[in-house]
Amino acid sequence: LRAFRNSSIFPRIAPTYRSLSTLVLAEHEGGTIKASSISAVEAAKSLGEENSVSVLLAGSCASLKAAADQAALCHPSISEVLVAESDHFTYPLAEPWAKLVHVVQQKGGYSHIIAASGSFGKNIIPRAAALLDVSPVTDVTNIIESNIFVRPIYAGNALCTVRYTGSSPCMLTIRATSFSVPSTSAGSKPTLAPIDRVDLSTFGEDDAVVKSRYIKLSSEETERPDLGNARVVITGGRALKSAENFKMIEKLAEKLGAAVGATRAAVDAGYVPNDLQVGQTGKIVAPELYMAFGVSGAIQHIAGMRDSKVIVAVNKDADASIFQVADYGLVGDLFEVIPELLEKLPEK
Ligand code: FAD
Repeated sequence: LRAFRNSSIFPRIAPTYRSLSTLVLAEHEGGTIKASSISAVEAAKSLGEENSVSVLLAGSCASLKAAADQAALCHPSISEVLVAESDHFTYPLAEPWAKLVHVVQQKGGYSHIIAASGSFGKNIIPRAAALLDVSPVTDVTNIIESNIFVRPIYAGNALCTVRYTGSSPCMLTIRATSFSVPSTSAGSKPTLAPIDRVDLSTFGEDDAVVKSRYIKLSSEETERPDLGNARVVITGGRALKSAENFKMIEKLAEKLGAAVGATRAAVDAGYVPNDLQVGQTGKIVAPELYMAFGVSGAIQHIAGMRDSKVIVAVNKDADASIFQVADYGLVGDLFEVIPELLEKLPEK
């Protein structure tokens, strides 16, 4: 009987949560909570009405206080903001963060731990899950019940419904674009969640915590919106042929107040840096308008932009796969179409 019990014939019973309580790992920059972390709070809300949501922030600089004040106001479902202040968190390195999650979970006993599926969450959640001896569910796009989730598989070509049967806490990364936060209705009063400091006396010096070292951040100063949250994205593919030609895409983006995206082929060819890559191994975007110029529409690219509200594609090959997902398609040469658009569009 024991042998049968341990086999898949007797599936493990799904955990029943005595009470729902969620810890959301939040990322902040310049005193502001990132929009993707607010989406993680929105996801926590959909676990159940009675869910109590705590937000965990860590850092070491003055902007941490500003971020905590903003977090306390940023979503009506937040019931407390936990702040961990230490030099270990000057940069969001996964090792000290994973240890922090472990310490906070031991005290708080949360039923769920959630982070957005960006490089921050994808770095921390698996390490923290290993410390807590649970298996995380990644890239969740829909929450059906507190232990039933939908996530894409096969580069977004199929959606898989999974039931979490492991022990508590259930750890998730969520796709921020699938949990956009509704704008608060005019006149509604924001509620202020209390801010609590995390007791780090048991944090200690641990080999694992100091295993990784921050060296430098390479980022470009740009006035363009962030690719992950932009309302309009203009993407160029390999067809642009050079970094010099890719500037046409950048000019068009400037005129439209849009973010710039690229295919992996364009990134690999060195036209643009790889933080602009959209797709399965790049960023997942879901803007109101997505314009693709000289993009073939490989499944790995589509996986990153198929949820865009309106898709416009320009490609000189009428059989290009991108036209299968496009709402508006133009069979034409981008070297003629883009200059014409630049000429006809009014200055911003
Ligand atoms: P191409 O496939 O070369 O297509 C260029 C297109 O431009 C063609 O359709 C052509 O008709 C058109 N064209 C040419 N000249 C013109 C012109 N003058 N005017 C108009 N149209 C023109 N790709 C991603 O984008 N993102 C990912 O995250 C990603 N992850 C991957 C992960 C794995 C494991 C693998 C194996 C691949 C991944 N890829 C990814 C690569 C993907 O398979 C494709 O190779 C890539 O998306 C192709 O980029 P492209 O459309 O720019 O280039």
